[in-house]
Amino acid sequence: MKRICAIPGDGIGRELIPQAVRVLGIVVPDIPVFQCEMGLRAYEETGFFLPDETLECIKQADAVLFGAITSPPKDTENYRSPLLFIRKEFQMYANVRPIKRILPDGPEINAVIIRENTEGLYSGIEHVEGKKGDRRFVTERILSDRGIERIIRFALNYAKINNRKEIVLGHKANVLRKSDAAFREMFYEIAEGSGLELSDMYIDALAHDIVRYPEKFDVILTLNMYGDIVSDVAAAVGGGLGLAPSANIGEKKALFEPVHGSAPDIAGKGIANPTAVLLSTAMLLDYIGRKKEGNLLETAIRSAIAEGHGTKDMGGRENTMEFTDRVIEMMKQGIP
Ligand code: ATP
Repeated sequence: MKRICAIPGDGIGRELIPQAVRVLGIVVPDIPVFQCEMGLRAYEETGFFLPDETLECIKQADAVLFGAITSPPKDTENYRSPLLFIRKEFQMYANVRPIKRILPDGPEINAVIIRENTEGLYSGIEHVEGKKGDRRFVTERILSDRGIERIIRFALNYAKINNRKEIVLGHKANVLRKSDAAFREMFYEIAEGSGLELSDMYIDALAHDIVRYPEKFDVILTLNMYGDIVSDVAAAVGGGLGLAPSANIGEKKALFEPVHGSAPDIAGKGIANPTAVLLSTAMLLDYIGRKKEGNLLETAIRSAIAEGHGTKDMGGRENTMEFTDRVIEMMKQGIP
């Protein structure tokens, strides 16, 4: 039996995850959803950013639905991002961010960004040499054959099962002539004969083209930091952060979360856009083998928006709860 772990976290995560849990209760009432805590609020209440019982809940679950975390003040002792820890601990090496046109007047885009999630410049391994005024800041950026190969194979498999036709690789092999060059070389070696159209671009040119020609992209495969930046650019092209879902996928477990953060400026007002978290929920349903229900949810979100419903950031008039109500109504129409 499948299990879902739902973690609201901080800020608007606390308003959005309960809406997603409400939707799950309707669309997959047979699947148990366990709620637990993580983040700054958990730290303030328990002294831990990632309490043991939350880690246990994640271990027991097949998939995790997560809201957002507010970064703690700079002087917080021994802070380690719980999300980075989870990605590493459960080897969630593939970050998947689909960007599809969802607003009726938005640009034509139907792309997916696949980003290596465990290596590269986000290692957090840094040190400072020398004294202030004459310092050198050194960050380790590690890529490995194993890490490169598994993300390339993941992208190929993703493209195959999702009926995608093209993969473009984003890199900077003109500057990073060993690491990124190896990434590019291995991409062509491994992907040859896949039947997919393969190409590669410098990541800066790729970012430019996502803005200028969003319609030309299918699957974009890239490394950790490039993917982080380019997917926010693509999210903006696709209509904004409130609309963009994501998944962190590992060998045995996956975590689904909206691309946006905890948005402290609007937290507690009940006006946050639930679209990104609900689309993330649809991806989760697909992952746990409930594709039909995932499609039903995504179609309901799209239909609600097409009928003019939406939150303020989308130009609509509804609050978080009211918009979710509309999505649920649409969903119920599609439930036999
Ligand atoms: P954090 O520090 O947690 O990353 P942030 O405010 O720096 O928070 P985001 O949470 O990504 O970064 O928000 C960036 C902007 O986008 C904010 O102005 C926020 O209000 C807006 N925003 C983000 N998510 C949503 C949403 N779901 N609905 C409406 N507006 C949103």
